[in-house]
Amino acid sequence: MFEEGSARVEKYGAENVFDFSLGNPNLEPPDKFREILRELANNPEPGQHAYMANAGFESSRRAVAEYLGGYNRQKFSPDDIVMTVGAGGGLNVVLKTILNPGEEVIIPCPYFVEYIFYVDNHQGVPKFVGTGPDFSLDIGAIEQAIGESTRAVLINSPNNPTGKVYTQGEMEALSSLLSDYSRKFGQPIYLIADEPYRKIIYDGIAVPSVFNAYRESFVVTSFSKDLSLPGERIGYAVINPDISNKETMRGGMVLCNRILGFVNAPALMQRAVSRLLEESVDISIYQKKRDLLCDGLEAFGYEFTKPGGAFYLFPKTPTEDDAAFVFALQEENILTVPGSGFGGPGHIRIAYCVSDDTIERSLPGFERAIKKYKK
Ligand code: PLP
Repeated sequence: MFEEGSARVEKYGAENVFDFSLGNPNLEPPDKFREILRELANNPEPGQHAYMANAGFESSRRAVAEYLGGYNRQKFSPDDIVMTVGAGGGLNVVLKTILNPGEEVIIPCPYFVEYIFYVDNHQGVPKFVGTGPDFSLDIGAIEQAIGESTRAVLINSPNNPTGKVYTQGEMEALSSLLSDYSRKFGQPIYLIADEPYRKIIYDGIAVPSVFNAYRESFVVTSFSKDLSLPGERIGYAVINPDISNKETMRGGMVLCNRILGFVNAPALMQRAVSRLLEESVDISIYQKKRDLLCDGLEAFGYEFTKPGGAFYLFPKTPTEDDAAFVFALQEENILTVPGSGFGGPGHIRIAYCVSDDTIERSLPGFERAIKKYKK
């Protein structure tokens, strides 16, 4: 896809290719981020660039602990937090900590593709389950997938690729199910929540606290999307302060952060983001893009569930063959990704973290492409 995109840019010029294929935010980080970097560079402290405790700077973890206390019921300590190399790094740390070879991780479809590889990295087995028509959790399907080998359920809300935000009711139902089966099997089934889009939400909806809902839980997040820092590789993983086997889990995460090859999260970034925990890019800009795209596509007959968060739209394709529709859009120089790649066949993913101009100028192409199928 990437090569096809590059070839089209070469042939038609970048301004005539509408690339919706990547979740790379088009907004710049807040000005305050650069100010903090300047301050850190101009006032260096001894050891500023040295190794630190593998979990990360105590001061950064303390700041995160206080921030988390603001929207969860629990009180967090710096020891509940490991600063990580993005959410991707954090997920690998958690999975390596909890998985024994052959154990299963239940993943609702559609999902962020890398999950398959992350689970496989630690000799786990991904087990996919369907979701409802609006991508809500199908608790019955999750129950059917649970067995003695189930070690965790991995959820992502707001979701990539659908933009779905799970409700309090869904979280409670999931929690009750996992509690029942943890009791039945005599060992916890963990809930891992991947939340890099937690702050990117629309229409005033709230993302429920996973920690409040379920005790045996981990939350992983990053600053890649809400501060537009994906290349800086900074995030954190949090353990529920009430989790059982807490010391083993904490020790495991710190060790895994080191032995997976990360050693620690980038030092300067740890210092910078700990002063930006309440900040984000202007989310209303993404909401405007969502509305521009959704209004346009709806008028042409595209069918979709309007995203409550993140910056992805996952419309149905007018043919079962989603790859064929991706090619039809490519003919219009519109680059998207087939839903099959996310475990959601019959859909495409449109990443709308692009300029308003790109969205506006792509709309006639979206219209022409669907007209070929809908007479
Ligand atoms: N999880 C989800 C759902 C994502 O969409 C992404 C990146 O696109 C990641 C994790 C990885 O994020 P990071 O850059 O923080 O490693």
